Order: sequence, then C-alpha cells, then structure tokens
Amino acid sequence: AHVTRFAPSPTGSVHLGGLYVALLAQEAARRSGGTYVVRIEDTDKRREVAGAAEEFARVFGYFGLEPDEGAGRPGAWGPYLQSDREAIYLSYVRELVRTGQAYPCFCSPEVLGRNAEEQQRARSPLGYYGKWARCRGLSVEQAQERVAAGEAFTVRFRCPVGLPGRVRFRDRVRGALTMLDNGNDVVILKSAEQGRRLPTYHFAHVVDDHLMRVTLVIRGEEWISSLPVHHQLHRALGFTPPQYAHIAPLMKVEGSSRRKLSKRKDPESAAAFYLTAGYPAQAVRHYLRGLANSRLADLPAGRALAEPVRLEEAGTAGPMVDLGKLRSVSRDYIASLSPDEALRALSAWAEEHDPGLARVLRTHRHLAVQALEIGRSGTGTPRKDLACWSEFRSAYGFFFPELHTPVGALDDVRLGLPARQVAELVTDLAGSYRHTGPAEDWYAQWRELARRHGFAPDVRTYRADPQAYHGSVREVVNVLRVCVTGTDRSPDLFQVARALGEAELLDRLRPLAD
Ligand code: GLU
Repeated sequence: AHVTRFAPSPTGSVHLGGLYVALLAQEAARRSGGTYVVRIEDTDKRREVAGAAEEFARVFGYFGLEPDEGAGRPGAWGPYLQSDREAIYLSYVRELVRTGQAYPCFCSPEVLGRNAEEQQRARSPLGYYGKWARCRGLSVEQAQERVAAGEAFTVRFRCPVGLPGRVRFRDRVRGALTMLDNGNDVVILKSAEQGRRLPTYHFAHVVDDHLMRVTLVIRGEEWISSLPVHHQLHRALGFTPPQYAHIAPLMKVEGSSRRKLSKRKDPESAAAFYLTAGYPAQAVRHYLRGLANSRLADLPAGRALAEPVRLEEAGTAGPMVDLGKLRSVSRDYIASLSPDEALRALSAWAEEHDPGLARVLRTHRHLAVQALEIGRSGTGTPRKDLACWSEFRSAYGFFFPELHTPVGALDDVRLGLPARQVAELVTDLAGSYRHTGPAEDWYAQWRELARRHGFAPDVRTYRADPQAYHGSVREVVNVLRVCVTGTDRSPDLFQVARALGEAELLDRLRPLAD
C-alpha cells in the first residue's frame, strides 16, 4: 500500500496541472489500498497569497480530491501545514548540526551575490561549495560566538560529496536515471524572520515525507534536478528515500509549436475555470486520466474508471491539453447521466454560480427534468449539446417562462420566407394549433397546414417541383420552432411542444398573430 501526497504551496490559484498531479497521487494511493495525504507547503511566507488555502480546499472539494488525511482532515501524522511544524524541523536541523552534517552560514545576500558573479565569470557551476563555501570551515566555537553576537545566519547542509560523481536513480515515469551528484551545500534553514525560523522546501519536504510515512512521491518534473540533494538529505537524516514519479507538465499547441500550458495566457489552465463554467468534476477527471494514459481516453468514463492509471505510461513528453476534446468528453458524460442525475448536478452548480437559474429549477422541477430528457437525448441519436452547466440557459432556457425571451416581431421569424407568408402561417397556427398525439398525428397536422398555405407536404415533393410551392413542411414547422423556442435549432419539436403544453404554446404564438 502506497502513501502518496500532494504538497501545494499557497502561492496563487490552483492550476489544472495541480489537479492532474493530485489526481495521480490519489489514484496511486487508492489503487494500492493506501493513503493520499495533502500537505500545505507554506514556508515561503513572502510568496504566500491570502485566501489561497481556502481556494485550494474549495477547488479540491469540487474535484473529489479531498485528502484521506491532511490539511483540514486531521490524521495521526500531522500537523499538515508546514508552518505549524517549525519545532519539528528545528529538532532535525539541530541533530544535523550536532553530528557535523550541517553548519551555520553567516554569508550575507551581498556576499552570495558577489560569489555568484565571480562564479559566472569563471564559468563554474553556481552554488555554495569549494572555495565559495566560506563558512564551511568555521569551528564550532567561532560559529557559536557569531551566533551569540546576534549575527544573522542560515543553516546549510554539509554536502557529503567532495568531487561530485554520477548517481543513479529509478523514477516511476522515467525509469533509470543517471545524474551528476549534488555538490552544493544547500540552505536547509532560512534566516530568522519575525522571530520564526522556517526550513527550505528541500529540507522540509524530506522531513515531512519521512514522518508522514510517504512511500511514493508524485510531483512535477521541475524537481527532478533536485533528486540528488534530496537523496543526500534523506541519507544524512537516516531515512529511506521514497519512490519517485516525476510528472511532465501539461502542454498546449500554439500554431505549429508546443509550449507549457500557461497560467497567464490560457484561461483553461485555471482549475476555477471548470468550476465556474460547470464542467462536471467526473468529466474533467476522466479527461485528465486520459492525458496520463492515452489508452483510457477512448473508453467511456465508467469503463475507464475500472482501469488503473499507470505512472509508467504517463510519458515524458507532457500531454497536450485540448479544450475542444475536454468539452466533447464532458458532453458525452453529461449525456450519459439520467435526467434526475443531471438535474441534481445542474442544480448544485446553479445554487453556487447562477442563483436565478437555481430558483427556476426549483419552481419547475418537472419541466427541468423534461428539458434535460428531451434536450440531451431527443429522439434518435443523442444530441449531447451541453458540455457544461452554464450552457443550460442558452440551450434550454426557452422551456421556462422566466428564462424564455419571446420573439419580438415576426421579422425575426422570416426563415427566408416572404413576410406575408409568415404572418399568414402564424395567424392560422394561433387559431388552429392543437396538441395531438402520437407524433404521427401531430405531424399530419403540419402537412395539412402546409397544404392550406401552398407548401409541399414533404421535402422530396418540394424539391421535385420547387416552382409549385413556397417551400416544404419543414419551413412551416420551423416557423413554429422559432416562435416557441426563439431559435431555429431546438431539440425535437414534438417533445418540446408536449412538455410546454398547448396553453403555453398558444400564449407564445398569439401575440405574433395578426
Ligand atoms: N510545494 C511544492 C510545489 O508547490 C511541492 C513539490 C512536491 O510535491 O514535492 O511545487
């Protein structure tokens, strides 16, 4: 059983890539009967954004990525907020200093800056090592004296490697890796700020992953270059390093090139984008699983769920995010829901994002179920025209008196017909329309109406002799369609008419008649 974790920093809004990595961590834990931990890495107080942790909880709640254990969900290995773990980190830092594996460093930012410039000029790798590691050779007494005198200091890890050689690792995504070992005395404890001493990411996450008994670290590829130092830290502390899976970033096609999905340029990169528009969480999750393992992309969501995501198949190239594809996955998902399920999900979305719609749905529950039934499946092939819940208003608003925008004037109903023809048809309809069933009888009424006004009873007859008719029965039905739904593209009109009822239909027709 694997213990995995997702470890966001509260430095801004949640990115789709964050959901992606968290989803993989959750899956790996669930599949193995283990635990998925969420830990908030808030040791960089300067980059912290107010409210980010709350936003994070809201978004993760929506996508079903709540931790099994972690921030907001107490477990035995907490606290799960790094800033609450200061004392824990300090005790490990002290232990490393005591055993000579870490030392205080008094180099000011200016000194370090000058070092870096010199290193650049000398074309040597940047970092605190060799002759640039000025504080490495200080004796314990010298260091104690300077600390006692109130000098500012950080604590650095004493890198155990003299001349760095190569090291080998296994990564669950990338397989065997050979890398240059770390030869840099990295900072593990930052200088005091407002009376607090917080660790760096490198140190904090090593301590936490160990204490939270993490066995598999799934994280962004940008950390792969830090693997050597993380391994050194694990060893210095006497820990066994976990397994690693470094995940390639989400990409996007731009013109003929590919680039990383960008927070700044791509609205679809923000997780909140999907909440606001009302993309069902299950659809987004299914899409993301398909990005990780393309064999899952072509399966229906339900079937794909039974199949595991394999980290080994995640690929190193970075999957392409395509909103059009995601929308089509979402359309299929919405079409697969029963009308009741769809209404429940739609209402939940509306309660939060469109209270006006939520009220209408509560008032007209039955009509809403019918709209979802007719709209999404119609007769024959499924129509699948909803990709997200915010499209409900424009697609099916006409079902509801409160949301329907009546056709203002007959001019809007022209459909390529002369104005007089339309006026005659509507006036006749307003006087003669009866809702009859079954559908054949209802359509017979249209053929009759068509005949009365010089339209062909079917398209074929019209095409055979276009001069003899104004059009076909299809135009006649379309006149009703526009008058009733406000658009010339609607779901099956017989079903729409039945759902609305004769009285409502006539109410919509009469104001347009002569
Ligand atoms: N806090 C780090 C980040 O936000 C987490 C990296 C990791 O998962 O170890 O990128």
